[in-house]
Amino acid sequence: MKSLVVLGSTGSIGRQTLEVVGSQKCLKLVGISFGHNTRIAERQISYLKPRYVASLKREDSLKREFPDIKFFCGAEGIEEMLRTADPDYVMVGVPGIAGLRYSLVATEIASRICLANKETLVCGGQIFLESVKKNRVELLPVDSEHSAVFQLLEQWNKPRRILITASGGSVRDMDVEALQHVSPAQVLKHPVWSMGKRVTIDSATMVNKGLEVIEAYHLFGIPQDRILTLICRNSIIHGGVIYDDGVVKLHVGWPDMRIPISYALNYPVRQVVNKEFDMNSVSLSLEPLDEKKYPALSLAREIVGQLSFQIAYNSADEVAIEAFLSRKIKFTDIFKVIQSAVKRVDPCDPSGYNEVMEIDRVSRILAMEEVSKCSSQ
Ligand code: MG
Repeated sequence: MKSLVVLGSTGSIGRQTLEVVGSQKCLKLVGISFGHNTRIAERQISYLKPRYVASLKREDSLKREFPDIKFFCGAEGIEEMLRTADPDYVMVGVPGIAGLRYSLVATEIASRICLANKETLVCGGQIFLESVKKNRVELLPVDSEHSAVFQLLEQWNKPRRILITASGGSVRDMDVEALQHVSPAQVLKHPVWSMGKRVTIDSATMVNKGLEVIEAYHLFGIPQDRILTLICRNSIIHGGVIYDDGVVKLHVGWPDMRIPISYALNYPVRQVVNKEFDMNSVSLSLEPLDEKKYPALSLAREIVGQLSFQIAYNSADEVAIEAFLSRKIKFTDIFKVIQSAVKRVDPCDPSGYNEVMEIDRVSRILAMEEVSKCSSQ
């Protein structure tokens, strides 16, 4: 039985991963890491009993409660836990650029990385992929669209194009004018998926699809103009692959993250996670995506492959979302903040983790300057 460490166990991906592991019993959970959600972590520890636990802050009460478990703390501690647990598989479910650091460590240890952290590819790009190659790690995407494409690719045939779909997010039926006045509460109501705050807002701005085009470019080595993006309102069609002979393969299934999670953990085996899909109960349809309404997607396409711009795109988005949630800027300013940081950051090619973090730091400052401009208007 393969051993597994789940990084970010109390987040949306982490919780569902533990649910899958707990019900399938195909993997041995040896370690978890979490940020601040002690209550959820406590339940997870007593249910699945991992040998190693790492947390961002000190967890003295958990230590007392579980004396047989070895605890680690801080970002250093999470890294140390990974090295000590030395698992076969790592699920990288932590949010944010911190994920890159752990993903890089995971390439040195694990034989398989199940990747749910977008920043690993968006901010790490080639740096991460070279380490994956060097260490002969199997890289399994967990993002639903990328998992779909991964499942459809054929060993002997190069695809002409790939397709990733978008639900359109919570404001998909508003016109551009109305978007100026939309509130955080309105944006946080996603029509299909229940996810973290950032990704819900990113779905509405299409920054999420922008990040996913960048991810797909790195994962599948396909130029951006061959990565189609279309709207699928009920998120039943997750992705597709278009071949030279005119055949289109679409990936259809329930919008349920446990499916790509389970696929990544059990590949090439498909384990049951769900009731059978009923073709009669849903409509299968795709709509064009109006890139004018979603300038963040066009911007992502422009910067694909240029790592410093990709980093700025991601960091500025995080800063902008925080400013939007605390009502310092308008919904439509999120794009302005991202655009400004991407324009102003130095175009360079970072060669390691520290350089990536430096570009991230500078980008956040540039983004904050634009936030102040927008909020004073
Ligand atoms: Mg996705």
